[in-house]
Amino acid sequence: MIAFSLLATDGSARRGTLQLTHGSVQTPAFMPVGTAASVKGLTPADVRSAGTQILLANTYHLWLRPGLETIEAAGGLHRFMAWDAPILTDSGGFQVFSLQERRTLDPDGVTFKSHLDGSMHRFTPENTVAFQEAIGSDIAMQLDVCVKLPATYEELAASVSMTTAWAQRCRAAQRSPDTALFAIVQGGLDESLRMRSVRELVALDFPGYAIGGLSVGETREEMERTARLTAAALPQSKPRYIMGIGTVRDIIAAVDCGIDMFDCVYPTRCGRNARAMTHSGEFNIRNAAYVRDFSPVDPQCSCTVCTTYTRAYLCHLFRAGEMLGSQLLSYHNVALLHDVMAQARAAIEGGNWATWRDAALAAISS
Ligand SMILES: [Zn+2]
Repeated sequence: MIAFSLLATDGSARRGTLQLTHGSVQTPAFMPVGTAASVKGLTPADVRSAGTQILLANTYHLWLRPGLETIEAAGGLHRFMAWDAPILTDSGGFQVFSLQERRTLDPDGVTFKSHLDGSMHRFTPENTVAFQEAIGSDIAMQLDVCVKLPATYEELAASVSMTTAWAQRCRAAQRSPDTALFAIVQGGLDESLRMRSVRELVALDFPGYAIGGLSVGETREEMERTARLTAAALPQSKPRYIMGIGTVRDIIAAVDCGIDMFDCVYPTRCGRNARAMTHSGEFNIRNAAYVRDFSPVDPQCSCTVCTTYTRAYLCHLFRAGEMLGSQLLSYHNVALLHDVMAQARAAIEGGNWATWRDAALAAISS
C-alpha cells in the first residue's frame, strides 16, 4: 500500500505525505540506516523519539544473517526488531556490486561470495523482491546494477539497460499489496543516459523512484547537477529518493533539487567517531576545547541529549572509552537531521524555502 500526496512546493523543493502499510511519513524525510536490523547504538524507542518516521534495512546483510527463515519465524522484520513504523529495504544491489572480485554478473542475476563466511549466494530480480516482501518491507527496492565512478559510457549504458530489464522483472515478480516497489535510476553523470533511464523506468509506472549511482566517487557539484536534472525529469506525483546522502549540506541541496527521501549511515557513524553534527557545522567532541564546555552539543537542538547533557560530559565519555558517548552522540546526530528536515518542511510550507536554505547553508559555512 502506498499513496503520496504533494502538499506544497516552493521552487523545486517539495513537501508531501507518504502513506505506507506501517504508517505515514512527512516528506522531505531523512531515513536512518539499520543495515542489520539495528540502527547502531540506538534502541528502536530511541530511533523513534529522535524523530524517525521510517528507517532503512538492507537485503544483502539480512539475507546472509539471520536469513529469511529466522525473520519469517519471528513474524517479519518489524516484529523481529521491535519497530512498528515503516521500513524501506535496499535490494542489496549496491552492496553486492561493491564486493568487486567476489561477484559475477550475468543477464539473469548476480552470484556473490558472502563477506561473512565465503559461502556462495545468488540474487535475481525475482528473489530479492520475494525476500523483501516476505520480511514485510513497506518499500522494497528493485535489484539494480550500480557502477563505480569514473566509468566509461559503455559501462554506464550497459548498467542502464540491465537495470531497466531487471526493473521490469521485479515489477512482474511482485505479489504483496503491502510492499511498494521503487525503481532505481542509473546512468552515472551522463545526462543522456540518466534521461534514458528515467524514460524507461517511468514507462513501467512504479509507485516511487530512487536516484542511484551517486555518492560513489564524484564531486559534490557533479552529484548535485545529476540529482537536479534527474529529479526534474521524474513524475511530480511520485516520491523521489536519493540514496546515500547524509550530511546537512547534501540533504539541503537534495531537497532543493526536488528530492523527498534520503538515507545514510553518516549520522550514526559520526556518532561513534565523536563527530558532532550541528546546525552550525561539525566538530570532534573529543577535542581539548570541549573538556570544560558545559554547553549543549548544539544549543539550537532540542533533543533529549542536548537538553540533558553537556559537551564536557560527552567529551569525557569518549576520552574514557565509555560506550554511552557513542550512543548519546548518535542519538543527537539523528535527531539533528530530523530537526533540519522539520525546519525544511516548515519552510517549504511557509513559502520561504530559499531564505531558509541560504541561512541554513550559511550557518554551516561560518
Ligand atoms: Zn541534540
